[in-house]
Amino acid sequence: MYDVTAIRADFPILSRTINDKPLVYLDSGASAQKPQVVIDAITLAYSHEYANVHRGLHTLSNIATEKYEDVRTIIARFLGVADEGQIILNSGTTEGINMVAYGWAMPRMQAGDEIVLSVMEHHANIVPWHFLRERQGVALKWVDVDATGALETQKVIEAITPKTKLIAITQVSNVLGTKVDIKAICDAARMQGVPVLVDGSQGAVHMPVNVDDLGCDFYAITGHKLYGPSGSGAIYVNKDRLAEMRPFMGGGDMIREVSKDEVTYNDPPMKFEAGTPGIVQTIGFGVALEYMMGIGMEAIAAHEDDLCAYAQSRLSGLNWLNVQGSTADKAAIFSFTMEGAAHAHDISTILDKKGVAVRAGHHCAGPLMDHLGVSATCRASFGMYNTRDEVDVLIDALELAHDLFA
Ligand code: PLP
Repeated sequence: MYDVTAIRADFPILSRTINDKPLVYLDSGASAQKPQVVIDAITLAYSHEYANVHRGLHTLSNIATEKYEDVRTIIARFLGVADEGQIILNSGTTEGINMVAYGWAMPRMQAGDEIVLSVMEHHANIVPWHFLRERQGVALKWVDVDATGALETQKVIEAITPKTKLIAITQVSNVLGTKVDIKAICDAARMQGVPVLVDGSQGAVHMPVNVDDLGCDFYAITGHKLYGPSGSGAIYVNKDRLAEMRPFMGGGDMIREVSKDEVTYNDPPMKFEAGTPGIVQTIGFGVALEYMMGIGMEAIAAHEDDLCAYAQSRLSGLNWLNVQGSTADKAAIFSFTMEGAAHAHDISTILDKKGVAVRAGHHCAGPLMDHLGVSATCRASFGMYNTRDEVDVLIDALELAHDLFA
């Protein structure tokens, strides 16, 4: 049975107060809190096991290297990838997508080529493609969500033309929570020879992921949303794309030999990992993923689905609240504005007075904000440790904000 009380006890920060009220942390979509095992792993690494990785032959370097490299295996297991050589460790999704843009897309795309994107993408999965538009004349083709916030798979498939060189798409919207049918998109794209990059920053947090089964070419994740440290992450790149990709950053570790006249590169995945990495962050990331898998991704998803349905029904009872998107096929992420009132920042300030942490702003999703016709929203995003009681606290705090601003 899913024991949310025991899970909450694993996260020390959840027992603190904010403005004399128990913390209700509903900002996991921005960054999730860390369980004690992750905090302990970081302390242990720095206090007893720290050295640079890969290059040393001394004991500490060997311990650090082993622990660091173990994380590649853990991530492969977490993502259902058979070959860990297809996992490139990095600092997070932003780095992962930029690596693909510079190392794979730029050398292969020309003016007139097309990249298909959904209107829900985070700037991390937009701006690198704008670089290609600005510098190489690549066209960006946008697929809108419908009035419920759902993304019709067929619309994505219809956007593919003979000029399409990539579909770059999120698995879960960080604003609406909308889930995208990645497998169906990958199946259709493969038949037309179009690679698919999946932004798994939100998706991998809320549902079990099996990348081999999804059939995508790239799948990016970021450690700090997966209950691990910031500055950690990874991207899965399938064998064919790995063979095509050029190194994005040059430096130590990614080379085999360097002379005045030439350089030869290490084999993948090391070829794509330049410089001293986030050693301790990555070790902590591995522990966070083990922690999630220990609880079970199916169990986490079921708990969050229940929270999502409960929050959806309670929020929809507030007729002065404009909740963006009404699709039921979503993760527990809700964006809203308040009728006649308050800027999102004001609402979030009132909620904070009640101990409720939500995010306010454009959520790094400019095209979606334009599509929705709003400049900012408040966003409540739930994680594995949230409860129905916390949904009730959110509702009470929103009612207070409405009373103040109406
Ligand atoms: N993609 C999505 C959907 C996100 O929600 C985020 C973070 O908010 C990112 C990408 C960027 O992740 P990071 O800043 O960790 O690289």
